[in-house]
Amino acid sequence: MECDYCNKEAITSSYGKNYCKEHFNMYFRGRVKSVIDKFHIKGRMAVALSGGKDSATVMHVLHILGMEIVPFHINLDIPSYSKSSREACRQLCDSLGYKLEVINLRNYGISLENEEKACSVCGTAKRYLMNRFAYENECKYVATGHNLSDVVTFAMNNLANANIMNFRGNKPYLEGKEEYRMIAKIKPLFYLKDDECMNYVSINKIPYTKEICPHQKEAPTIKIKEWLHEIEEKRNGTMLNMAKSFWKIEDMIKEEVKLRRCSICGYPSYGKICKFCKIRKKHENFS
Ligand code: SF4
Ligand code: ZN
Ligand code: ZN
Repeated sequence: MECDYCNKEAITSSYGKNYCKEHFNMYFRGRVKSVIDKFHIKGRMAVALSGGKDSATVMHVLHILGMEIVPFHINLDIPSYSKSSREACRQLCDSLGYKLEVINLRNYGISLENEEKACSVCGTAKRYLMNRFAYENECKYVATGHNLSDVVTFAMNNLANANIMNFRGNKPYLEGKEEYRMIAKIKPLFYLKDDECMNYVSINKIPYTKEICPHQKEAPTIKIKEWLHEIEEKRNGTMLNMAKSFWKIEDMIKEEVKLRRCSICGYPSYGKICKFCKIRKKHENFS
């Protein structure tokens, strides 16, 4: 099978097109660049590395595109999984010539061990620490590894839970609000599916951990993602169309969210005390 853009052998395909390594990389990086250009992203960007394939892909592509990046990793202290995640992040940073900053969740008095709602606590902690790291390191943006499959799964999960008034996170870019110490968020992989990201890491031999977090089986979204991929296999482009629709719906809702600063830590919050500080207090009481 030949590449659709040259006469080299094709090694992968996407949306019915066949690609050699060079042309797949061009296509893939072009999709990332379209997000960067659309939102005029320019300046220092914190890149959240989890150790998994998606955030490794983000870092690799942003590096190649010449963006100013500051990579960091949040150590969740989950036996075995956290160690292999950290090692993968280190390898990636070493190979590209960056220093990796590591934030330890335990330094905030939070442990996921024996935590009933590990994913919920973990999600809140990661969102908080990403924003705080970017703020403290004078970054204009924080980039995450959410890809098209994640974005659509997240939105479908919100719909499945009748959570329409809290219908956020469906766009590739969320503006920051300096007065609340809220840093702008960007999802450079917004237009790229799970399998395309997998192809990118394997074609470019990018280090990542294959280990899966032991809590992942509790996540309610896994079934939704499997179901979406089944539909996508039958009708290519469905996920992309869904993502575009969710983005439009979010724009239409235009709900005013009342943001303020947490009275304990000073970072953005929807209530008097932010969710992260509430978790810290709860964990303090139990330690
Ligand atoms: Fe955190 Fe849950 Fe993801 Fe594990 S599966 S990293 S606990 S959100
Ligand atoms: Zn080619
Ligand atoms: Zn707080």
